[in-house]
Amino acid sequence: MPTPIISKRAPIYADVPDEKWNDWRWQLSNRLNTAEDIEKVLPITDSERKALQTQGLFRVDVTPYFISLVDPDDPNDPVRKQIIPVAEELNAFTSMMEDSLAEDRHSPVPGLVHRYPDRVLMLVTTQCASYCRYCTRSRIVGDPGQTFNRQDFEMQIDYLKRTPQVRDVLLSGGDPLVLAPKILEELLTRLREIPHIEIVRIGSRVPVFMPMRITQELCDMLAKFHPLWLNIHVNHPNEITKELADACDRMSRAGIPLGNQSVLLAGVNDCVHMQRELVQKLTRIRVRPYYLYQCDLVEGSGHFRTPVAKGIEIIEGLRGHTSGYAVPQYIVDAPGGGGKIPVTPNYMLSMSDHKVIVRNYEGYVTTYEEPTEYKSHDPKTCKFCQNKRPEPGQTGLTGLLDGDKMFIKPEGFDELHNRDGIEHRLKDENKWKPLGIGSGKSD
Ligand SMILES: *Cc1c(COP(=O)(O)O)cnc(C)c1O
Repeated sequence: MPTPIISKRAPIYADVPDEKWNDWRWQLSNRLNTAEDIEKVLPITDSERKALQTQGLFRVDVTPYFISLVDPDDPNDPVRKQIIPVAEELNAFTSMMEDSLAEDRHSPVPGLVHRYPDRVLMLVTTQCASYCRYCTRSRIVGDPGQTFNRQDFEMQIDYLKRTPQVRDVLLSGGDPLVLAPKILEELLTRLREIPHIEIVRIGSRVPVFMPMRITQELCDMLAKFHPLWLNIHVNHPNEITKELADACDRMSRAGIPLGNQSVLLAGVNDCVHMQRELVQKLTRIRVRPYYLYQCDLVEGSGHFRTPVAKGIEIIEGLRGHTSGYAVPQYIVDAPGGGGKIPVTPNYMLSMSDHKVIVRNYEGYVTTYEEPTEYKSHDPKTCKFCQNKRPEPGQTGLTGLLDGDKMFIKPEGFDELHNRDGIEHRLKDENKWKPLGIGSGKSD
């Protein structure tokens, strides 16, 4: 596999001096957002023109660096599809939602999503370097009037201070790395003053849209706040350039572990062989594939959706076929706020007493003999069992296994199965009278 090469600039940028091209502020202020702008770089299709001229479309903005990765002669270019809208974006589809992950319902204070027991998602800005057409937060992202808000921030910090079960804060948005450097530093400083926050994570596509933002100065600043982790967002091997590789190298040298989250997108990366190349290229630049997401049921993303089977097929083609480090977890983020659910091919085929039947990636089917006498550790004397962190209301199946509770009931279960007095209720509703109960004579 060749090492990544410096990306070429689109011809209209040929005369931009290097100091400007490599200055992230220049990249931000020269973003393209209209049909006229984009047409200077590549011939646009009728579908793209129609979308770009539609009022109220989710915001468009592309950095000169990122649009230069598009092959202007290919209307199906995988980079192009991610950032230039097409008319299909305006189509509704069944089960489409505005806030498909029910994030707003999980927000105790504005911009803070507390969904899981020990970690929160903190939305620190609505701005991005460029806008992904399939954005799961298109309901809030892109609005220039609504960027970093000090009052919301103080409320977020206050919530975190009084919520000691939060040990992990994930900064997202929008993109935290487009914040003014001073604001970002202040934000991290304030988070680090809260003793129970053990790790801070940043989710950012800035390294991909604008690698010149990842300066040594920024890396030195971030390194003051360790342990700090960062996930980037690469969907296709064409996004892995020398510039991105260098940016990742600077962050890795600053001690920031890097992961990648990608979204499975029809016509962009719904190919097992392309995915194999993507994850291998990522590990070469020391980025660990973390999650591959099924596309959310969000407005504007209908034409990007694939069947879940496509994700299974991709994981089937990765696990065992390439380095374990290169295999992401495939995730369906459950609509309605169910949260992230890992979905995998089946490797466990059957089981009996003391025996399981498993298969590997090659289809080799084998048995694993389990011990006939297993003596489990003793939870009564285990100090970890004794000191486990409480997860009020969220212990789930672990709670069942632990013996904390015996069952989990679906909504309405008790009412449905409480037959006591049902005759009475039904009579009141005057719908149906049970035969032969109570009266002793038939009507
Ligand atoms: C994705 C997400 C997280 C982080 O989940 P991990 O599986 O720990 O990476 C936390 N909170 C919310 C609301 C999320 O959507």
